[in-house]
Amino acid sequence: MINRTIALAKYKGTFEQPDIFGYYGTFGGAYIPEMLHPNVEELKNNYLKIMYEEGFQKAFRDLLKDYVGRPSPLYYAARLSEKHGAKIFLKREDLNHTGAHKINNTIGQILLAQKLGKHRIIAETGAGQHGVATATVCALMNMQCVVYMGEKDIERQAPNVARMKMLGATVIPATSGSKTLKDATNEAIRDWINNPTDTHYIIGSVVGPHPYPDMVARFQSIISEEIRWQLKVHTGSEVPTHLVACVGGGSNAAGTFYHYLEDFTVQLVAVEAAGCGVQSGRSAATTQLGKPGVLHGSKSLVMQTEDGQVVEPHSISAGLDYPGIGPLHAHLFESGRGTFLSATDAEALESAFELTRLEGIIPALESAHALAGLNQLKLTAKDTVVVCLSGRGDKDMSTYMAAMEKT
Ligand SMILES: *Cc1c(COP(=O)(O)O)cnc(C)c1O
Repeated sequence: MINRTIALAKYKGTFEQPDIFGYYGTFGGAYIPEMLHPNVEELKNNYLKIMYEEGFQKAFRDLLKDYVGRPSPLYYAARLSEKHGAKIFLKREDLNHTGAHKINNTIGQILLAQKLGKHRIIAETGAGQHGVATATVCALMNMQCVVYMGEKDIERQAPNVARMKMLGATVIPATSGSKTLKDATNEAIRDWINNPTDTHYIIGSVVGPHPYPDMVARFQSIISEEIRWQLKVHTGSEVPTHLVACVGGGSNAAGTFYHYLEDFTVQLVAVEAAGCGVQSGRSAATTQLGKPGVLHGSKSLVMQTEDGQVVEPHSISAGLDYPGIGPLHAHLFESGRGTFLSATDAEALESAFELTRLEGIIPALESAHALAGLNQLKLTAKDTVVVCLSGRGDKDMSTYMAAMEKT
């Protein structure tokens, strides 16, 4: 712990916000086509001013409380604690309206879009979770909503497609490439280029060109803002020994870590999806397999071939099935501030069943990766661990049922 504090001293101040060009260490920036400059510049020049205006904060906080249901509980998981021999708390983002942390960000961005005078919202989605969270706030605010989704994902995620349509969104299939998330993202970017004045693009994670990673991290930072006071009520101290979260693009992890980034005594544990195994060729463990590269507007770690072609990732959980990672996380990895672990599909399934039987909580498959990470930490009775339970398992029931049939 003391060693970590000394080793990290030179990075002080580089985690909570990027530099003026949008870099966390060597990662970030805004690598965008010329034609997107006006949109991204407008956002960059206004987001902080708008976000920290009193009226905005009040509207944001009121909706988080009365619409999302915040603060989400910090639950002391007694039986899980007993199993691991440490005090383990679950941050219950699964209890939010729409079932995950994503709504924190979409509420923030739709309020921002209103302030910027936008009337039309676009978004990309993989499994449909971010699409549903976006369609939800568009219904709430009476905004036109267009969601781009890979053709293959539309087939695989029928219930979420139905939800988006019921909420009034138009779902447009992305038919190029692998017909999945990265292709949907490309289509959304194309749409934004063609509709520069009336449209806001709601990105669903701490990825994309500056200022998105910083903006999304700030909206999600409500998670650690609450953890600090809730943990104090439970234990008398605001500061745990470990914070654990799964990482797809990295937004629930960024929110969980945010107000502890500069508390170097706290071990920040990010758990990626190893898929069938890191070296199996079917994985999404970006920090283990990725190299520096540009994906969707920022420089970060990207899973790619020798000649820079993006490698198709694999994870049992659609929310972690992404070949990149947000620039903040690439910096946490490179600097050593973060501890990056990975859990396989099988380990995540096992942890999902374990939590269900120990605590009566069915987690999202993504969150089950964070839980699986606990098995790799050498915990002792002195440790206080907060795990971000990023979402609930309703959407994963068909996968869980298939797993039960096999055993
Ligand atoms: C989308 C999603 C994730 C992954 O996204 P991050 O940006 O890495 O947080 C994790 N958990 C759940 C429940 C999700 O829906």
